[in-house]
Amino acid sequence: MLNVRLALLTLYYHATWPLRRWWIRRWQKQACVPMSVLLYHRIASDCPVSWVTSLSAFRQHLAWLRRHAEVVSLHEIQARLISGNRESRPCVAITFDDGYADNLREAVPLLLEARMPFTFFVTVTNLLQERRFAHDLEQGQSWRLVSPRELRELADSGVEVGSHGLTHADYSLLNIDELVREINDSKHILEDLAGRPVRALAIPFGQPRQMTPEVFQIAYEAGYTCVCSAYGGYNIPGRHRFHIRRFHGDDPLIRLINQVTIDPRLVWQTQRDSVWEAQSERPGSLMRGNEDAIVAPCTLLSQDGEQRPAVGETSARLPTGTAPLPEAGAATSPDKVLLGGNL
Ligand SMILES: [Zn+2]
Repeated sequence: MLNVRLALLTLYYHATWPLRRWWIRRWQKQACVPMSVLLYHRIASDCPVSWVTSLSAFRQHLAWLRRHAEVVSLHEIQARLISGNRESRPCVAITFDDGYADNLREAVPLLLEARMPFTFFVTVTNLLQERRFAHDLEQGQSWRLVSPRELRELADSGVEVGSHGLTHADYSLLNIDELVREINDSKHILEDLAGRPVRALAIPFGQPRQMTPEVFQIAYEAGYTCVCSAYGGYNIPGRHRFHIRRFHGDDPLIRLINQVTIDPRLVWQTQRDSVWEAQSERPGSLMRGNEDAIVAPCTLLSQDGEQRPAVGETSARLPTGTAPLPEAGAATSPDKVLLGGNL
């Protein structure tokens, strides 16, 4: 079944290639070419669960990205959300969640050798107490996480360290005090461990039900410069500079190529999600440090060629409370149906 899906996706990719090129040329003129951020977990030779990417697949991803894409840091993605992106090649950032030690053996050296920046998100308590993740134990796995010393070495080698919370809790189940502790304390502890500022926060599970207004507000007040979700979508210059959307990278190569070369369906999905996202991101959180930035007047094009307002412009006109949040765990793309939820 998977092979059939991938074969259909390959056909779809080639059939929509002319449309993608046409769209990208239009977006280039407006400096708002969408950008992708990839999310990986554990890279290893053994892949007993869906959140492990095989080493061979990861090598394929890097080889393709090196040849066809511009791999940039999260910071650069955020900068282009403000200043615009005219790059015709896919602009891609790489992130890892959970902090698996196995990544130090293969994935990290490959990235460092290729001089590709990436962000490594770790969960503080699991790291400090050498506590395995519940989602791994439930699958009969006991994968080690990086130690404080290994984290410091990563940071010293130029890798950006980000927070993946204090305890990998489900933020949709926490009260305000618990959220503040998760978001604030993890930042401070990690800054001590890494010896440098921690600017990015990746919300555990990262689904719509965890991305609440309270989470954005607390993260903003804690001093983070961006919050990452994990349910897919592009990062489109114009608005939403505080929220970084991410695609799963732990996928077959054709799915990665289809995503980063701007899939029209996923552009539509990004537009749709932005309706309720705008109500989660409070206006103050959008403007941290960017108050004087000139934002490109982006427009998105529908498949029939009709011009539509950019993501932020569309949602900004909606009265608060009129658009419901998606159902918890609701699938937002065919890719996500296949993958299931994020960790
Ligand atoms: Zn996680």
